[in-house]
Amino acid sequence: MTTTSHDILPAELEDLVKLFDVTPTDSPTPDDEREAALAAPRFGTVFTDHMARITWRKDTGWIDRRIEKYGPLLLDPATAVLHYAQEIFEGMKAYKHADGSVWTFRPAANAARFARSAHRLALPPLSVDDFVGSIAALVRTDLPWVPGGEDSSLYLRPFMFASEAFLGVRPATEVEYLCIASPVGPYFAGGVKPVSIWVSQDYHRAGPGGTGDAKCGGNYAASLLPQTEAQENGCDQVCFLDSATNSFLEELGGMNVFVVTDDGAVHTPELTGSILEGVTRSSILQLAADHGREVVERRIPLAEVVDGLASGKVREIFACGTAAVVTPIGRLAGGTFDHTVGDGEPGELTMAIRTELTDIQYGRVEDRHGWLRRLA
Ligand SMILES: *Cc1c(COP(=O)(O)O)cnc(C)c1O
Repeated sequence: MTTTSHDILPAELEDLVKLFDVTPTDSPTPDDEREAALAAPRFGTVFTDHMARITWRKDTGWIDRRIEKYGPLLLDPATAVLHYAQEIFEGMKAYKHADGSVWTFRPAANAARFARSAHRLALPPLSVDDFVGSIAALVRTDLPWVPGGEDSSLYLRPFMFASEAFLGVRPATEVEYLCIASPVGPYFAGGVKPVSIWVSQDYHRAGPGGTGDAKCGGNYAASLLPQTEAQENGCDQVCFLDSATNSFLEELGGMNVFVVTDDGAVHTPELTGSILEGVTRSSILQLAADHGREVVERRIPLAEVVDGLASGKVREIFACGTAAVVTPIGRLAGGTFDHTVGDGEPGELTMAIRTELTDIQYGRVEDRHGWLRRLA
């Protein structure tokens, strides 16, 4: 493994972790049960023994940084989030390297996006220090829960919601921040498999001036019905078009999208305000540029992609995000078209990007951009 200055646990991280009071659970998962869960993890179903938590009140700011037993929250039926969806979240992973050290990927980018999402949802900003500190404190407390298997990781879910019991419509004066963690295995058990995509003509996930570029639960609520429509049309996932003209590619319900053309260029929809800026997306743009490829962020007409699939100009299409990393798209369909992408198998560049990104995350190649941050 390559040794870099990032291998040293930074003293400043120790200081951030120390701000969290740890109250260990009185009923830890027995070792054999935990090992069984780690051996066959199913995404988002099993959670570690603890959670990180910070409370905010308008008159105190962020207080009570703590690691406590994982468990149900007691909520008043009038809790604001249940009525007006004032909520945001993040998705990250902790990766175990061959030497047993545990790392995360570009946490400052997630922390910055969390602050931007908070701003859009009129929630209080959480500092980068509290964000990274909460994750490090949780991962250290639940260290035996970080899986070591190939392409396995500990999925981290930081989130923040309006916890005030009040039915008036205004930003809440009481807010909770939590981070929970769930061991996950390879997203594609049995090898990477291309997915089929339905381009929705009837629904949009976001509009100009809306919350499309904030990572909030409400965006996902809006994507569920079109996702069902995609499945009714025999597709795995839905891709949305821009709501103003219904003609440009935006993204999937929870992943950004890339198109590879026959000249080797890599294209992705430019950030218009209604597209979520993925950390995976920006990392892929960097890696493609590192390899001397032309990278183009622009408005991509659906008609151009459909024509390109018919003519062979479009060679590969893939989606990307933290959970699945890179997902090849093997078929693109909509009301009036239905095309196989390439020969329907994962594209060569798609898989090369996937391999390079996961090799960096698991410490198998040099982290030349300093994207990894050691947690334990
Ligand atoms: C989280 C998310 C992504 C992917 O972002 P990453 O930082 O790469 O995980 C893409 N689109 C939407 C709508 C998302 O919520």
